[in-house]
Amino acid sequence: MLDFLQLGIRKEINHTLKSLGIVEPTPIQERTIPSVLEGKDVIAKAQTGTGKTLAFVLPILEKIDVHESDVQALILTPTRELAQQISKEIKKMIENVESVNVLAVYGGQDVEHQLKKLKGAQHIVVATPGRLLDHIRRGTIDLSTIRMLVLDEADQMLHMGFLPEVDDIIKETFPSRQTMLFSATMPSEIKSLAKKYMNEPEFIEVKAKKVTVEEIKQVVIETTDRRKQATLFHLIEEHRPFLAIIFCRTKVRAKKLHEALIANGYESDELHGDLTQSKREKAMKRFREAKTQFLVATDVAARGLDVEGVTHVYNYDIPQDVESYVHRIGRTGRAGGDGVAFTLVAPKDMEFLRMIEKGIHQKFEIQVIKGVSIPDREDYERASEQKYENKRTEGSRRDGRKAAPFSSNRKPNDRRSNSNSNHSTRGRKRSR
Ligand code: ADP
Ligand code: MG
Repeated sequence: MLDFLQLGIRKEINHTLKSLGIVEPTPIQERTIPSVLEGKDVIAKAQTGTGKTLAFVLPILEKIDVHESDVQALILTPTRELAQQISKEIKKMIENVESVNVLAVYGGQDVEHQLKKLKGAQHIVVATPGRLLDHIRRGTIDLSTIRMLVLDEADQMLHMGFLPEVDDIIKETFPSRQTMLFSATMPSEIKSLAKKYMNEPEFIEVKAKKVTVEEIKQVVIETTDRRKQATLFHLIEEHRPFLAIIFCRTKVRAKKLHEALIANGYESDELHGDLTQSKREKAMKRFREAKTQFLVATDVAARGLDVEGVTHVYNYDIPQDVESYVHRIGRTGRAGGDGVAFTLVAPKDMEFLRMIEKGIHQKFEIQVIKGVSIPDREDYERASEQKYENKRTEGSRRDGRKAAPFSSNRKPNDRRSNSNSNHSTRGRKRSR
């Protein structure tokens, strides 16, 4: 079995890895680490949860010269949470080695505090593009000594509109630097960025057998917008997840659902872009420590987060593209653990569901919870099943709402019946 020592990682760090239970390099690490150590530019494409962070962190640590006080490596990442996660991971790795200084720079954090830290010797800076550019413009950071540059979660930086900032930042770095790009997907904009700024990059791709992580069980539940909440509550009562992330489409929806969970006696936190930095940090910390059971999040806030022990992911709102489906469900069952992902689909979501099925080359079996996720009426059931079949086979019809199987059957005033209570929410115990 190949280990990290053989890949060129020093024994002190190897010990630290072992103590964390990390003994065998993942495929992306096995292929990336030697190339980075050789000084090559690399483009690494591998799905979420495959260990991309250590694939760049470990070789960078080998190449940092601690006797120099310049910033030598810059890691750009789309969100504050990721910046924090990566800098923490680096700090863990260097517990037993000569002092390497790492600084995380991201928005929402006190600028003065960052300035002070920037004055000391920092070897590695982990940053989100916006705040870093602030510092560059204020003249408070000098990137001209950067020899190693990592663009982590490059596709997400693209989706979040950070490419112009990334472009400006790269121009500030040392021209003959080594550049590494990590991404789960390779949209054309990322390819052109690579072409523009990389020097004969080695392209490393680790293909998964399936696009989705194998250990994750995926379940689709048919419901309606009105019955969604009751359906979710029913599911969580039934599963009693240890830790669960619930994804919503918008910040407002995440906030509302979080409030409903609290009102029903659940331990919940919200994680989305409307919260202050300190609130987000608190929510993450409580969740990591398993003090909250449910984290209600939007895609952006939860992207790339790696929390141990997430047993369930609930797509309260269906993701609107394949990538985000894969990323969301990748939050559970990480690095070998088991996980289950539930997706609630209302009639108008069928188009997205079909798109996801296509994207991951799997066909979902759609389940119903009679009397909860849909009304308990046999004739109704048959009719809706028929319509679903039609919709699934019909192809490109786009008349969404009109064809929705539930709209005609809904009584004008059945909101009450949704707050269904087949479940009691207090005094629960988690099953671990
Ligand atoms: P990615 O960036 O590809 O989504 P991460 O770098 O966040 O993935 O890693 C996912 C999880 O796998 C982390 O918890 C990490 O500690 C763990 N991990 C990384 N490399 C290994 C390894 N070689 N063996 C076991 N676990 C690993
Ligand atoms: Mg990552």
